[in-house]
Amino acid sequence: MSLESRPVTAQSGVGRALAQRLARLGVETVQDLLFLLPIRYEDRTRLVPIGTLRAGMRAAVAGTVELAEVVFRGRRMLLLRLADGTGFLTLRFFHFNAAQQQQLTRGTRLRCFGEVRRGPLGAEMVHPEYRLADCPDAQAVEGALTPVYPATEGVQQGRLRVLTAQALGALAQEPLVDWLPPGLWRDGELPDLRAALEYLHRPPPDAELGLLQAGRHPAQRRLAFEELLAQQLALRVLREEVCRDPGWEIRVPGALAARLRAGLEFALTAAQQRVIREIDTDLAGGRPMLRLVQGDVGSGKTVVAAHAALAAIEAGCQVALMAPTELLAEQHARNFSHWLRPLGLDTLLLTARLTGRARHAAGAAIAAGSHPFVIGTHALFQERIRFARLALVIVDEQQRFGVQQRLALRDKGVAGGRLPHQLIMTATPIPRTLAMTAYADLDISVIDELPPGRTPVRTVVLPDTRRNDVVARIRRACLAGRQAYWVCPLIEESELLEAQAAEDTTAALAAALPELSIGLVHGRMPAAAKEPTMARFRAGEIRLLVATTVIEVGVDVPNASLMVIENAERMGLAQLHQLRGRVGRGAEVSTCVLLYHAPLSRLARERLGVMRATNDGFEIARRDLELRGPGELLGTRQAGLLQLRVADLLRDADLLPRVRDAADVMLAAHRANIAPLTRRWIGAGSRYGKV
Ligand code: ADP
Ligand code: MG
Repeated sequence: MSLESRPVTAQSGVGRALAQRLARLGVETVQDLLFLLPIRYEDRTRLVPIGTLRAGMRAAVAGTVELAEVVFRGRRMLLLRLADGTGFLTLRFFHFNAAQQQQLTRGTRLRCFGEVRRGPLGAEMVHPEYRLADCPDAQAVEGALTPVYPATEGVQQGRLRVLTAQALGALAQEPLVDWLPPGLWRDGELPDLRAALEYLHRPPPDAELGLLQAGRHPAQRRLAFEELLAQQLALRVLREEVCRDPGWEIRVPGALAARLRAGLEFALTAAQQRVIREIDTDLAGGRPMLRLVQGDVGSGKTVVAAHAALAAIEAGCQVALMAPTELLAEQHARNFSHWLRPLGLDTLLLTARLTGRARHAAGAAIAAGSHPFVIGTHALFQERIRFARLALVIVDEQQRFGVQQRLALRDKGVAGGRLPHQLIMTATPIPRTLAMTAYADLDISVIDELPPGRTPVRTVVLPDTRRNDVVARIRRACLAGRQAYWVCPLIEESELLEAQAAEDTTAALAAALPELSIGLVHGRMPAAAKEPTMARFRAGEIRLLVATTVIEVGVDVPNASLMVIENAERMGLAQLHQLRGRVGRGAEVSTCVLLYHAPLSRLARERLGVMRATNDGFEIARRDLELRGPGELLGTRQAGLLQLRVADLLRDADLLPRVRDAADVMLAAHRANIAPLTRRWIGAGSRYGKV
């Protein structure tokens, strides 16, 4: 049986229980063991003089036990003092048995490995791995840097080292198929598959640890390339499957869209027109569209979506729009009815408020095809709603919307055997290379132009000790006829605490600003309470709106020209950019005040500096990617996309053009190799749904 299909249980010492625990690491076959790559390495071959240890280091040391005693400091523990002539190190054991106590006595020579921390007596290690200096090391890998594998409960590092050693033994005996097309790189440019695996599992002692830790070793590059290729192929195969299905062929004269344009108080930007053309071409093609529209906050994505919706409606079909929050769904409903009512079309807002008989009736009407345009939150659409003729799904503010969700949409509205077109709109601009990788299954349109006449938002960064000055600034702005937002701190652990904090802030601001009318919206309020407040804010009756980050997306009140964000240091750049995008929508110069609580970490200081320096969402996304990595930026951690093992989208970005070319070659000429390659890296499709 090949390495690819031989179960781990074929290796000696692997029983049912261990196999189950390994399965949690995604390890089922010998091949899986080979592709379970170390997350880091430890140099246990080199002894570090105790005198040079610093807190935080993981180091190997050797020395003689000078003192050994069992003491009671709140709990019983064994304390040893180890010396090597350059200094002393305390070893602390909370769990120890009589045999250990007898063995670890004064005069014993020990070799230890562990993390150094600062203790009451100076440098110390808690529960280091140790052995008598004259015995061979069972833990360390002789003559190699010691690999550290991803941890899973119940499988110890020592066991993983033995298992991978067995797998490497098997690899030395029999080949592992290289599924990549030949001729990808120059001879010797990168090691072959087997050499790369052997190197990464057991780097020689003279390996450059720095290069390995940085992930830039040729062996890592070789595997990173393969991993990126596998993930690119998985997405593109998915896309092919979707596009094989028949879609709705929407070819209409565009009479409704023309009437919409005639009624707008502005002219579309060139970028909006270009994206509308791209969408129209897709809609007419007869295959389901899968298109992502990226456009900075305020670039005017909504009217582009309206164009697409009107084409589908003109063809006699239904459209669904999904928004991330109720607040945004409501705002869309208002905008769209403002646009669609003059055309004689009705919009249906599906909210959690709609219950009982009304809800049932709405569902029945949608199923009968009598509502052309239905708006709701993502959550609402996850329920069983049947459409008679759903031809287009618009997903707004796609931020926390991974591959899984995109796939789930495929199952929606497959009535009549036709898949709806999908239009996904996001204001989190993602650098091009990253987008092409993370969204390889989507076509991408970019609205790279803001409507004319916008004045860039001025951003100020202030410590929260200047709160009174900020309150005074709000008073001046509001008395001069403008409006303001006050965004309360993000409390990730608890929406309830967050709501409470927002209520306290509102009370404090109301006391400080008795002359202003102040409103509050937060995530725990029922829609029935939020909506009237928003309406009064839009109408200008409320001058200062206190809010939690629920207003992050979409809210559009052009007269608001001042935004204060509390504890801005806790928020991500994308989120701050979204929030700031709520102002700067009118002709007036707007200001965004980022309040922070000192002291600032270096990272936080850099982030706030980025916000002050630029208003350009793409630039901010690029810096965010540098500072935090793609997982955070894409928000796809939970969605399971891009949990890369060796590759790093930012570090290995230079590989991406070649990865794409290689994917083209494999899709065209080596199709049989695709499934085994994606299985090798992604597993049996579990992460992407059914591949
Ligand atoms: P976003 O891309 O952030 O979703 P919106 O679609 O909400 O942006 O548009 C922001 C504001 O700009 C809205 O008030 C919208 O009516 C307006 N707008 C859209 N396109 C244009 C345009 N071409 N010229 C002027 N204003 C526009
Ligand atoms: Mg929007």
